Amino acid sequence: MIVVLLGPPGSGKGTQGERVAAALGVPKVSTGDVLRDAAKAGSALGLEAKAYMDRGDLVPDPVILGIMKEALSAPAQARGVVLDGVVRTVPQAEGLARVAAEIGKQVDVVLLFEIADEALVARLSSRTTCGACQTPFAGRQPGEAHAECTARPKGTLVRRADDEPDAIRNRLRVYKAQTEPVVAWYRSHGGNVQSIDGVGSFEDVKARALRAVGR
Ligand code: AMP
Repeated sequence: MIVVLLGPPGSGKGTQGERVAAALGVPKVSTGDVLRDAAKAGSALGLEAKAYMDRGDLVPDPVILGIMKEALSAPAQARGVVLDGVVRTVPQAEGLARVAAEIGKQVDVVLLFEIADEALVARLSSRTTCGACQTPFAGRQPGEAHAECTARPKGTLVRRADDEPDAIRNRLRVYKAQTEPVVAWYRSHGGNVQSIDGVGSFEDVKARALRAVGR
């Protein structure tokens, strides 16, 4: 099963996507995580991507199409995959449909996490992220050690450059301009788009997301 997660930054799609992936028994791939790892490793791809990411702008489509292809063809993904933040423009949606069709698959469900802008800015500007394993936290301070980190060495909590207020506002603008049309594209191409109300407790939102994938 191929599941595409859509929703503005801070809507909870990444965290809930982990639960959806676990319930389906498939991996989750996040282009944001892949690009941040590449930037940290200092590869050519990573360094090119970092400049876009720090401003909150989108990384060019050809880079993302390469990551998509790799994500879908990896043996671990044979039973399916949850794609987090992988589809952010209409050309990326078209590219994913093409890459999936090449291996006899299709996008089975699009989960659209919905939440108001003010709630998003408040959530993101108070978010910290583990510098090593990328786990996001609410209400924990930059500089705190991440005691539960599974990476070695364990990470420390940092504020992502793109979680600063100006970058957040830019990411929301980019989402509205480039990613909202993706929802319309899926709807007009027979996609199974399931809207998830992202407001509420973690458990409530999780239950909605799992229901939408039949779990
Ligand atoms: P995320 O962790 O999903 O919020 O992604 C962080 C940043 O990575 C975004 O603001 C973009 O700069 C870049 N990025 C991640 N996924 C994509 C994508 N599918 N297309 C373009 N840029 C992306």
